[in-house]
Amino acid sequence: MLIITCPWCGARPETEFRYGGEAHIARPADPSALTDQEWADFLYNRTNPKGLHAERWRHIHGCGRYFNALRDTVSDFLVTTYKAGEPRPENSRPDVEGSGR
Ligand SMILES: [Zn+2]
Repeated sequence: MLIITCPWCGARPETEFRYGGEAHIARPADPSALTDQEWADFLYNRTNPKGLHAERWRHIHGCGRYFNALRDTVSDFLVTTYKAGEPRPENSRPDVEGSGR
């Protein structure tokens, strides 16, 4: 079972959380100014990287708060978690901090 560290509650089993998509996707300030392609990119197109991926998660059966996590999509290892609104951590490696299996 995957253990996820909520920034507010600490380490909990993955069954308490729900995946919320890619992190750091900002809604455009003026959607009416976008082309159809730009709007479609905002709504549907994501990076889907092989390796570190910044993701939104919600502690649905805990505090209910959203937070972000860096997950390695190859190993499914959660490198670290951080509060929503904080910048993506730089130079994060799986052996540095955070939670995992
Ligand atoms: Zn929590």
